[in-house]
Amino acid sequence: MVGTPSSSGGRPLRVGLTGGIGSGKTAVADLLEAQGAAVIDTDAIAHALTAPGGLAIEPLRREFGPDMIGADGAMDRPRMRALVFSDARAKARLEALIHPLIGQEVEREAAARQGLYQVFVVPLLVESGRWRDRVDRICVVDCDEATQVLRVRRRSGLAPEMVARIMAAQATRAQRLAVADDVIVNDGQTTPAQLAARTLDRHRAWLDLSALPV
Ligand code: ADP
Repeated sequence: MVGTPSSSGGRPLRVGLTGGIGSGKTAVADLLEAQGAAVIDTDAIAHALTAPGGLAIEPLRREFGPDMIGADGAMDRPRMRALVFSDARAKARLEALIHPLIGQEVEREAAARQGLYQVFVVPLLVESGRWRDRVDRICVVDCDEATQVLRVRRRSGLAPEMVARIMAAQATRAQRLAVADDVIVNDGQTTPAQLAARTLDRHRAWLDLSALPV
């Protein structure tokens, strides 16, 4: 654990919530939000930045040219995906452009919505390296790979090879668990009621930490 509210000037406790695709991050975040946590979803922020009229659109047009912006005014996602998949330098340029904007928006939302404590949903928290210092605790939603594949296929109808490709580009289960302060197990044996109970358990622990004297 990097810090507590008492060591950080009384701001709300910050929990970074992560886990592989299909692990159950969204399910956990929804449960925590219902308990009064402020949930800040970095994927939603990235999406809004690259939607029509988003803050990243003009910088993207300048950096990558007008072809990367679709007729609807949003970033042309399939085109950008194809470019960064084949060109590591383009990927680095995109990240250099987008990450500071995401950081800005995250801080703006965090300042606007304190909640009982704050939960930052960051799918690639372990991979990105820049989140460790921004949060007080890292919570991993832990799931076996076979269940991840099943859930994602059920949710989105993606082909198993596609799910496998996405998972291969993410940290492994062991890498995530190695940096976790808290773990919520949501594997193939976990019922929704068990997930809710485990999440509530963490919620109570974070409330206790939030109540530490300043
Ligand atoms: P993530 O946000 O990590 O990609 P989600 O929370 O969207 O994962 O969960 C993936 C899918 O699996 C969703 O359709 C969700 O409803 C379902 N799911 C998650 N946990 C469970 C569980 N314990 N039992 C049954 N279905 C689950």
